[in-house]
Amino acid sequence: ALTGHEGWTPAWRDPEPKAQYDIVVIGGGGHGLATAHYLAKVYGQRKVAVIEKGWIGGGNVGRNTTIIRSNYLLDGNEPFYEFSLKLWEGLEQDVNYNAMVSQRGIINLIHSDAQRDAFTRRGNAMILNGADAELLDADQVRKEYPYLNFNDARFPIKGGLAQRRGGTVRHDAVAWGYARSADSHGVDIIQNCEVTGFRIENGKCLGVETSKGFIGAGKVGCAVAGNSGRVMGMAGMRLPIESHVLQAFVSEGLKPLLPGVITFGAGHFYVSQSDKGGLVFGGDLDGYNSYAQRGNLPVVEDVCEGGMALMPMIGRARLLRMWGGIMDMSMDGSPIIDRTPVEGLYFNGGWCYGGFKATPASGYCFAHLLARDEPHPTATAYRFDRFRTGRMIDEKGVGNQPN
Ligand code: FAD
Repeated sequence: ALTGHEGWTPAWRDPEPKAQYDIVVIGGGGHGLATAHYLAKVYGQRKVAVIEKGWIGGGNVGRNTTIIRSNYLLDGNEPFYEFSLKLWEGLEQDVNYNAMVSQRGIINLIHSDAQRDAFTRRGNAMILNGADAELLDADQVRKEYPYLNFNDARFPIKGGLAQRRGGTVRHDAVAWGYARSADSHGVDIIQNCEVTGFRIENGKCLGVETSKGFIGAGKVGCAVAGNSGRVMGMAGMRLPIESHVLQAFVSEGLKPLLPGVITFGAGHFYVSQSDKGGLVFGGDLDGYNSYAQRGNLPVVEDVCEGGMALMPMIGRARLLRMWGGIMDMSMDGSPIIDRTPVEGLYFNGGWCYGGFKATPASGYCFAHLLARDEPHPTATAYRFDRFRTGRMIDEKGVGNQPN
């Protein structure tokens, strides 16, 4: 049957690097490719390259659990993630690519009165920032998810905070859609090309050393997610970021069961169902620093325990696959999109568990910063100096946390 698939036109070119670009973006993940797309399409930049050490989509953008939402509390975060959700809503038209954006809704489950108070506050903050939020009681949740463990002695389900516009997006299609669009606007996407150093003279970045030789650049933007510490270390910078592994899991295909995304509020577990029927779920980080894209068994046990506590019948489903990605965990849980002390070198990272949903806004705001040399209005809080001044945006950003 594969013979019918011969002779396809590649969706993007495979160019050799030019000697000099106006802007070089390091990292062909979701954020790097989105940055290139907006640089070319919105900011009119024509001499742009994305440098990727492996293949595009091989990093976290192709490894995450595909959840998008804008259910944050704090001022620095909520407007940014809502901007991102609005960009998701128009993404497929913008890049002319089917990314299977599915606003199937997300519910953060509530298990105590104190948690209801905290989630009510978060819902109000969302509404004040133009997002949608709906507080559900236990009966409303039961109508949508009747098989959950409502009367568990330790963690009874008392309701939920719903965001109906949240949902899932086919993750690797996001990388491909942005790549094809950026390429069609003249961006060179250079795969299998590792950045091995920066050429910095008199405090100014002149370009990057790579496995394919030196590539000159007027400006360099770094968007390498879990490799942020390693790459920025080559420019002499030590970041307020640690790298950890996060694992994800998918079960065998089941008949349609989960209409949307749910997060357990008494442990770290979240789950949705893919269009092929697999339950896609995950939980907490492996709790040690690592650059390995695979995790360990204690976290598998922990995640599955969360699943069993919330939804006991999950124990009947067989696990099909599991994998890991490297998370760039910032010290306050919020990201950084900023200049660096090196002239011409810019940084985008610290996305922690939640960078997939941020992809469009991250790319848009990073493109704005690179093109105009000033922060985009919705990303002004994402600065390095908050770690020096103590103006943290202290929000872990995971579903089960009240703030
Ligand atoms: P990546 O795709 O990792 O891109 C970075 C790229 O940089 C990589 O392709 C890498 O090869 C490249 N690179 C690194 N070093 C170099 C170098 N020296 N030279 C050239 N290139 C280099 N977020 C959500 O919002 N919702 C979720 O449901 C969700 N679930 C997740 C589940 C898991 C298991 C994981 C691992 C992550 C999850 N995330 C989620 C987080 C999200 O995937 C990441 O925050 C986000 O994808 C990071 O940005 P990126 O796509 O640009 O990263």
